[in-house]
Amino acid sequence: MRGAGLAVHFDPIGNIIGRLEGTDPNAPAVITGSHLDTVPEGGGYDGAVGVVAGLAAIKFLQSSGTLTHPLELIIFAAEESSRFGFMTIGSKAMTGMASRYAWSKAKDPAGVTLEKVLRDRGYNLREVDGASRVKDKIKAFVELHIEQGSFLENAEKKIGVVETIAAPTMLKITVEGVAKHAGSTPMDDRHDALVSAAMIVLAVQSIALEQSHCGTVATVGQLKVSPGAMNVIPGLVELWVDLRGVEQESIIETLQDIKDAVSTIADGQETPIAIDVMLSEKPVQMHEMVVQKIEDICISDKIPYQRMNSGAGHDAMNMARLTPTGMIFIPCRGGISHNFEEFTKLADIQTGIEVLTKTLYDLAK
Ligand SMILES: [Zn+2]
Repeated sequence: MRGAGLAVHFDPIGNIIGRLEGTDPNAPAVITGSHLDTVPEGGGYDGAVGVVAGLAAIKFLQSSGTLTHPLELIIFAAEESSRFGFMTIGSKAMTGMASRYAWSKAKDPAGVTLEKVLRDRGYNLREVDGASRVKDKIKAFVELHIEQGSFLENAEKKIGVVETIAAPTMLKITVEGVAKHAGSTPMDDRHDALVSAAMIVLAVQSIALEQSHCGTVATVGQLKVSPGAMNVIPGLVELWVDLRGVEQESIIETLQDIKDAVSTIADGQETPIAIDVMLSEKPVQMHEMVVQKIEDICISDKIPYQRMNSGAGHDAMNMARLTPTGMIFIPCRGGISHNFEEFTKLADIQTGIEVLTKTLYDLAK
């Protein structure tokens, strides 16, 4: 970024901000950006391609004349939740949504606290509020990202113009059974927590299937069985449900149906079950002004595009609370992401960069 002539600084949560001034020193900034962190065994495109594309776009715009508005490229800190269990930490801090108390309890799987990681890098968790930005100083935010699904590839489209980002709801369900000897306990005298948990997994699947016409999805991706021995009836199971959708009503209905199913299973199996709603966010609309600009560029350049929703969360969903926001999706092979196999053709990245460049130009000229 420095090489491209941007003034670079780190904000109090570790977001990296590169800025190119425009002709009007008081004009609000047009911002692009994404993240460089990834998940264990993740690929090289999720996030990174948006950062590289943003830099390419700004370099091009800089070489072709001065714009009225300043341009910024932001590399958001800790977008993925895989290390500390909190997603989009950098953009949350930037948009005034820092959860300082919850973050102060966060630890990675090795037991290292987020607080320590920040401290070792010269930051202080108590000062993260200083990362929040003022609305008036920002005109718009545009993020380019791989789709992380196979919709564009299957539809043979090159650009996805995002309208809504699905909201995640995360549940922790704890099933209490009675741990007993697997050999000496008759089948009719058992309170097997894993059997109840298995019923919950199936219930979550069938409830989400019923709501799938609304774009709602639900997944049980993690189970912790205690004591976890082959010859002991499971006495305690914790499972985590990831529920997402773009229609708030469908999300609420799905959540209610899951709660009802869980209480039926708890009664039927005589295994008490507790549900903890760990996270519940609302779907986020992209701003029609930005959406329309991206769409107009695709139309005038004859690029096959599709308006669509994002099932995955992005920094853009936080930025949308601060400023008119849009997202440009590019295809990713086989819809595979969060995997070494993640891949996007250079030609598709190039198309994305062109659309991003023109969108930024249009907003900043
Ligand atoms: Zn990402």
